[in-house]
Amino acid sequence: MPISGSAIVKMLPGKRPCKECGFPTCFAFAMKLASGGTTVDKCPYLSEETKAKLVDLLAPPMKLVTIGSGENKLKIGNEEVVYRHEKTYCHPPGIALLISDKESETEIDEKIKKIKEMQFLWIGLTLKADLPALYFESGDKGKFLALVKKVYQSTDMGMILISEDMDALFSARDICADRQPLLYPITKENVETAIPKIKEKPTPVGIRGGDVEELVPLTLKLKEAGIEDVVLDPGSRNLMEAIRDQTFIRRATIKQGFRPLGYPTAAFPCFIAKDGLKEAMAASVFVNKFAGIIVLSDFSQHSLLPLLIQRLNIYTDPRFPMAVEEKYYEVLEPDEYSPVLVTSNWALTYFLVSSAVEATKVAAYVCVKDAEGLGVLTAWAAGKFGGDSVGAFIKKCGVADRVKHRKLIIPGKAARIKGELEDALNLEWEIIVGPKETTGLGKFFPEFAKKLRE
Ligand code: SF4
Repeated sequence: MPISGSAIVKMLPGKRPCKECGFPTCFAFAMKLASGGTTVDKCPYLSEETKAKLVDLLAPPMKLVTIGSGENKLKIGNEEVVYRHEKTYCHPPGIALLISDKESETEIDEKIKKIKEMQFLWIGLTLKADLPALYFESGDKGKFLALVKKVYQSTDMGMILISEDMDALFSARDICADRQPLLYPITKENVETAIPKIKEKPTPVGIRGGDVEELVPLTLKLKEAGIEDVVLDPGSRNLMEAIRDQTFIRRATIKQGFRPLGYPTAAFPCFIAKDGLKEAMAASVFVNKFAGIIVLSDFSQHSLLPLLIQRLNIYTDPRFPMAVEEKYYEVLEPDEYSPVLVTSNWALTYFLVSSAVEATKVAAYVCVKDAEGLGVLTAWAAGKFGGDSVGAFIKKCGVADRVKHRKLIIPGKAARIKGELEDALNLEWEIIVGPKETTGLGKFFPEFAKKLRE
């Protein structure tokens, strides 16, 4: 559990008011330290022992683990709550695609193509799976290493290397060590021999226990050896047990502050369910129930897209609505006779409006007014989409320099701002009340654009 400011202050030297930390008192420094706003090294009077103790106490309850390198880094863990509504979830689970060295060359090529290219544009974001999980299943080390080499050369993603054979695992690691692959599984049987090899080229490791309890001595042993980039697999291979174990680990980490389990976890729907639909359902449970990595044996557009959207929704910070930047956006290639619309900056509103405009094949300027991420009606009701503020935004956003006409379409749901907006724009713009729903734009918009040009 995070340490409080009043507990920290008891550990400080109390040389008040020396202020060398930049704060007026030790207490002020302690409060800031507890909230993560400063660091222990700012106080020059702390002993090394106290500093180390404080760093440990202030560390997030769950370790942040990074797999991969460069732009394709996958960061997992560092979660601070059990339930999303308590604050927010921070790092979405990585979705991994299992590729076995037992599969045919054609199947392997198809899966590599899938993990590289299957992606979806969704409210301005690109959604995709994150990394391949390469599985030594054939018993032929040469085949496994050839698979690792092939994936390494044809993608720039991080990887999970899965091999019970330690020799094959570390030979594979040597091929792609610069990509920071996750090595799996480290177990109580192989941990002693694995530690020196892991330390040769440090990368994250996935540990597997027979149950949750078995993970504890393993993480302690690895920590003692200075290995802390760890992912936990409690070894559960049916859905009920897996949910129980994932929940237990999360609660022990966050509620009890139990450091030996303070790491992100892996879940393996690929080993739990053999049928594609059940596997997709298990994966969706793990998105909610705390997994840091979810390994799937395969996916299609139809199974992956819902999972990615679910992940996006669960890992969106509930304290802040999804919003787009305040400015005017060009849809298609507008010119000086193209229509001008204004709407609020809730991401969904913007993408519905711009998609509806695009569907009419009429180029336009969509002016997006900052309404703190609220939809039009809510924003109007909250006083964030009034005539005065919309007028001020239209004046400053620069759209007037892009068009020769002065006709501005407002959303039908904000029809009441018409008069106020006309006044705010000094009667220079004619305000047109558009449809109440974006579905109405299909009929309204092309006719309006045609008249505008005439
Ligand atoms: S530098 Fe250290 S001793 Fe001085 S006020 Fe800050 S916390 Fe207290």
